[in-house]
Amino acid sequence: MSDERERKALYSVQLAGMSTETYTFQFQVDDALMKKYENEEIKAIKAEATVELTHRPNVTEADIELVGEVSTHCDRCLSLVTFPINLKERAIVKQATKNPENEINIIIFDPDKGQIEFDQYLYDMIVTALPIQRVHEHEEDCDAEMMDQLEQNDDQSDEIDPRWNDLKNLI
Ligand SMILES: [Zn+2]
Repeated sequence: MSDERERKALYSVQLAGMSTETYTFQFQVDDALMKKYENEEIKAIKAEATVELTHRPNVTEADIELVGEVSTHCDRCLSLVTFPINLKERAIVKQATKNPENEINIIIFDPDKGQIEFDQYLYDMIVTALPIQRVHEHEEDCDAEMMDQLEQNDDQSDEIDPRWNDLKNLI
């Protein structure tokens, strides 16, 4: 990833400074976020993020709600499976130029740029929310044609010349 691309935020808000007001922003989160972080697992994403910034005496909080759907390949049939996401998190907005220790639940407000960037935070929320088992809930929802094909491939691989297996062990 080039520095140029990393610098350019997809989801950000411009602020003149940390004031005492409360703001609400909305972002349409799409595949561009996965492209930015070169995520190959998530094939499609369509979600709406709502961010509410609340200023308290010593801290600014960001309440983030992310609602939509994410598609990945099904581990069983390899066709696309879509999961709903409905996430809520509260983060602290910290005034700094970066987040070098990758602190959790921290969003950086860079006063030089005058903006709060949400890309990394939204990305982490989505990736963390993905189920470990990415399969169609019911096996009958799986792509039957793909399943047949995969089974055939399995059968074929059982008949592989044993010398190939020896080779594989060397790799
Ligand atoms: Zn499936």
